[in-house]
Amino acid sequence: MSEPSRTHVHTEVLNANRDYVAVFGDKKDLALPPARGFAILTCMDARLDPAKYAGLSEGDAHVIRNAGGRATDDAIRSLVISHKLLGTKEWFVIHHTNCGMELFSDEIIGDLLEDNLETAAFDGATWSNPKHGNGCAHGHFIKWQTISDNERSVVQDVRRIREHPLVAGHIPIYGYIYDVKTGRINEVKTATEAGKATV
Ligand code: ZN
Repeated sequence: MSEPSRTHVHTEVLNANRDYVAVFGDKKDLALPPARGFAILTCMDARLDPAKYAGLSEGDAHVIRNAGGRATDDAIRSLVISHKLLGTKEWFVIHHTNCGMELFSDEIIGDLLEDNLETAAFDGATWSNPKHGNGCAHGHFIKWQTISDNERSVVQDVRRIREHPLVAGHIPIYGYIYDVKTGRINEVKTATEAGKATV
């Protein structure tokens, strides 16, 4: 049977996984609940590696990622499961400098998608579509959770989680901004203050 044709990236991922399996070793014995009892909500940005910037090994912690590291309904769903069923007791919300979510608005992405679905170009100031046609108006009806002020977004997200009725009051929630120029996470003190345990 011949191998199915795969893209370069697809093959690279399978090769990397084969190498990982070869050294997987005693990780087969890891418990399902995170051993260090905490969770991180952070951005999907490819420059951020929570395992490295926060010192995680397999089995240590939950990492929930989305565009911006925003406290969306689905992020909160994961956090509630993380505590209620898997025992995490402290949470971090970690946004970052130079986030792509600062580079557009709901109106901009709505207009781009309405025109065309292919990847848009960014010249440092403005987004534009290299191709036109076959777009979809649906994007105008989505709240994209863009970011205009980094510190404010961390405070908002920590507050939203803190105030959620399904989040236990004893869980402290810390707010940080990762600096993509240094790798350092800097605390947003007003966010951590807003996220302090209430019981
Ligand atoms: Zn980001």
